[in-house]
Amino acid sequence: MKVRTRFAPSPTGFLHIGGARTCLFSWLYARKNQGEFILRIEDTDRERSQKEYLEEILESLAWLGLDWDEIYYQSERFPIYLEQAEKLIKEGKAYSKNSAIFFKYQFEKIEVDDLIRGKIEFKELPKEEEVIIKSDKTPTYNFACVIDDALMGITHVIRGEDHISNTPKQILLYRALGFDIPQFAHLPLILSPQGGRLSKRFGATSLREYRKKGYLKEALVNYLLLLGWSPKDNREIISLKETKEIFDIKDVGKTGAVFSLDKLNWLNSQYIKEKPLEELTLLVEKYLKEEGFLESIDRTYLKKVVSLFKDRIAKLEDLKDWAKFCFYDNFEYQEETKEILKKNLSKEVRVLIEDLKNIGNFNKEEVERIFRATAENLGLKNRDLVHPARVALTGRRVGPGLFETMEVLGKEEVLKRLGWLVKYWEEENA
Ligand code: GLU
Repeated sequence: MKVRTRFAPSPTGFLHIGGARTCLFSWLYARKNQGEFILRIEDTDRERSQKEYLEEILESLAWLGLDWDEIYYQSERFPIYLEQAEKLIKEGKAYSKNSAIFFKYQFEKIEVDDLIRGKIEFKELPKEEEVIIKSDKTPTYNFACVIDDALMGITHVIRGEDHISNTPKQILLYRALGFDIPQFAHLPLILSPQGGRLSKRFGATSLREYRKKGYLKEALVNYLLLLGWSPKDNREIISLKETKEIFDIKDVGKTGAVFSLDKLNWLNSQYIKEKPLEELTLLVEKYLKEEGFLESIDRTYLKKVVSLFKDRIAKLEDLKDWAKFCFYDNFEYQEETKEILKKNLSKEVRVLIEDLKNIGNFNKEEVERIFRATAENLGLKNRDLVHPARVALTGRRVGPGLFETMEVLGKEEVLKRLGWLVKYWEEENA
């Protein structure tokens, strides 16, 4: 039988990290087994379901590279649920009261062989009756879910552990409706580092927020994979393509997976480092434009900036702060630099400006050579000039190598900013 899995988000909020992980595992299981992956939008709650959320969910999944073979909307399937409910009424398994329809649970032992958790026995049976169709004629989650999973031919229901308590109710519905029962796999919860479920209190929980911070999709997918699963050789860096070949739902752990921002940051920095410069530059350009940080930029220049920072940032968002001086010259010297600027070196920096002016090819080697010679001639240690020069160019105490920075900024800009520092000292000491 062909494997068919599904992801069934409710568009009542943005795609959650946990939802993305569920989707990823469900997708992987289908792809690994040459099966089909179905996306089912559980939009029965007309008030809480919003188009904005739906669009974001579809966009985020596509962005992650999780493609679907079929898509269904529960809001288009209300007659199907009603028809099944009426069938249950006819068979005496359900009844209507005040225009809603209730299902009569029969006392039965329920055992599930969960692909991750093994045998689960449900001793506590659901309460006697349960609404399956509300008075506004919309179905409840358990009812619609069972009918759809059955009619859509879902063979493996892969979802979060928070749905375990729904499983016995759903099994009773499968039996009453005469449908085959699929296999279940309940994924462990994602926990916050403080323990407990990953909640808003922890910080960003939606995929969208991570996208906005400039995490690369490859890093996010890699990170989500490690939340509950790991390749047998304990590698940390693994692509979706490779995982597709080796993924097995049986290898998913039972215990909660703790979300670690440090680890995500580390992974992201690795992916940034490894990305070919051309490709990374295009990503950065798109990102900074989307963020409204840049309107337009010369791509050759941007490429230089990106190469200056690619080994130093954890996420693209860091560029907005760390590389701001590469795009804007209207920065203030940060408070932490005041110590460095205490000593007035205006005369010396004037000499430096004159010496740098004479450089024909303003590359880092040439700049460094002249810079060192100037310091020596002035009887200064190299670092006595390096620190204030960095402040002049970047407004900061720390940053990328000074000579590389100078090459990226270019001669004209460097001379201008050094000139501003001279002026600063002159004003301070007037
Ligand atoms: N709409 C449900 C949710 O978002 C789906 C649960 C399931 O996979 O059965 O939690």
